[in-house]
Amino acid sequence: MFVDSHCHLSFPELHDRIDAIRADMASAQVERALCICTTIEEFPRVHALALAHDNLWCTVGVHPDNEGVQEPSVADLLERAALPRVVAIGETGLDYYRLNGRSIAQMAWQRERFRVHVRAARACGLPLVVHTRSASADTLALLAEEGGGAVRGVFHCFTETMEVARAALALGFHISFSGILTFRNAEDLRAVAREVPLERCLIETDSPYLAPMPYRGKTNSPAYVPHVAAKLAEIKGLPLETVARATRVNFERLFGIPALVPASEWT
Ligand SMILES: [Zn+2]
Ligand SMILES: [Zn+2]
Repeated sequence: MFVDSHCHLSFPELHDRIDAIRADMASAQVERALCICTTIEEFPRVHALALAHDNLWCTVGVHPDNEGVQEPSVADLLERAALPRVVAIGETGLDYYRLNGRSIAQMAWQRERFRVHVRAARACGLPLVVHTRSASADTLALLAEEGGGAVRGVFHCFTETMEVARAALALGFHISFSGILTFRNAEDLRAVAREVPLERCLIETDSPYLAPMPYRGKTNSPAYVPHVAAKLAEIKGLPLETVARATRVNFERLFGIPALVPASEWT
């Protein structure tokens, strides 16, 4: 059985057919998923999913790409993080991919927002869901500075180099692989996945985006996470069950979710 450590079920293309998606998850043996928050405005909708369904949990945070939205304070995050079924702070981080003509210096607002999230995670002890794109050096430096070695979490939808993976692992973070692992041109990422210890790996869909092969370009859903698991198993030369079990256990431990013991493991 599988878990999806990062999906956006609150986005309209998935939320509008949540019952069908949950049925697809059940047939694909995807037992659990973490619904990721990207704005404070969206939080009630994300949280409602986690409250309504016993196999869904959620996070609270504001994505670095979101502009013109409510800017959270540490208190805003902590207040929501204390609610039932909220298990992480994020997604948060830095994204210099779409600067829209601005310099990196002009992205100070993004770094300030990220700092607020790291401080909140440190204060409440929940893990951090980190998004980093074209900004790995600043992401790692800020985490080290604000986290003070006390903040754990995951680098989600990892697409960086082995050097960045090593630095994230050294900070105590997990690395989460998405459907990108299955893309034909992702040989460099597969080389990274081969090296990251299985006990620090998570898998995710980041749905509705980034559908794995053979669904590339279509609307993604948590039901496709077994394709990511299968690719990771192939890369590591391990049985699918081993990768499925390890990524589930890693997920449960990182996010403090009670362990689910599948029937196949009853003794
Ligand atoms: Zn992201
Ligand atoms: Zn995301």
